[in-house]
Amino acid sequence: TKRITTGTDVVTANISFEFFPPQTAEGVEKLRAARAKLAALEPEFFSVTYGAGGSTREHTLEVVFDIQREVLPVAPHISCIGATRETTRELLTRYQAAGIRRIVALRGDLPSGTADAGEFRYANELVEFIRRESGDWFHIEVGCYPEWHPQAKSPKDDLLAFKRKIDAGANSAITQFFYNFDAYAAFVDAARGLGIEAPIVPGIMPIGSFSKLARFADACGAEIPRWLRRQFEAYGDDTASIRALGLDVVTGLCEQLLAAGAPGLHFYTLNQAGLTTEIVTRLRSRQDEP
Ligand code: FAD
Repeated sequence: TKRITTGTDVVTANISFEFFPPQTAEGVEKLRAARAKLAALEPEFFSVTYGAGGSTREHTLEVVFDIQREVLPVAPHISCIGATRETTRELLTRYQAAGIRRIVALRGDLPSGTADAGEFRYANELVEFIRRESGDWFHIEVGCYPEWHPQAKSPKDDLLAFKRKIDAGANSAITQFFYNFDAYAAFVDAARGLGIEAPIVPGIMPIGSFSKLARFADACGAEIPRWLRRQFEAYGDDTASIRALGLDVVTGLCEQLLAAGAPGLHFYTLNQAGLTTEIVTRLRSRQDEP
């Protein structure tokens, strides 16, 4: 039996927006402008990624505290590969002292050639550590993979790894991006079958440029369906057509996900307001239609 059957109202759906920390002053300014536009959509929270091995650590903290100063809800990502308990504890203490209540806890990927894996191996160990250090202070989000993590030995192993993170105390999950609705539906079914009851929020990647998307998708094991890839390839340099098709496809996917009961949508904004705003606005205006 399908376990996701009752639809989610787009008005009550938990919408969240992810940023990466810019490396330049210009990038910081652009992100502020994007954030102001996205804040008008009243997301549940903004999240900020964190480079494995602490590579963007200070930039992440700057953006996190910048968002906090704007009195907007913020969820820093923390990755544990290459990290020590001591530096992780320090980070948690800073966030807790600043009144931050939500964290996205990940393993992360070390840049190739980096030898020191640090004191944590997998994300479940980080979740366990956060709970041990700070009790129930943080709402902990973890990542999960409807099309399976590229390093997983098997789908079953990946599901069990996901379950270990929930059992260690994670409250909810955000998925890697995907364009196959069925992969999400089957993943949620399988997770429920294992007794995982935590909300599983689909991660949504708006499509602005096909070449960029193809690179991302390859790196993280997300499939671009053949029918869609062929269409994008046929458009070549016609960016307007790529954008229009991307908006239609991603908005349609979001509608399908919410209709199937997905609890919300987490947008990988890539620090751009335009596409995400357009998708959320379309979703909300369609909801208003009689
Ligand atoms: P884990 O849950 O630890 O899983 C990693 C792999 O190990 C999986 O293949 C799993 O099946 C396997 N595994 C788990 N436990 C075991 C075990 N005991 N034995 C053998 N295999 C095991 N990366 C960043 O660097 N910074 C970010 O800010 C960031 N944000 C992200 C946000 C989201 C929502 C998502 C989905 C991903 C994000 N990533 C980020 C990418 C993420 O770090 C990578 O996908 C990473 O490879 C896996 O992280 P994880 O937390 O899912 O790892």
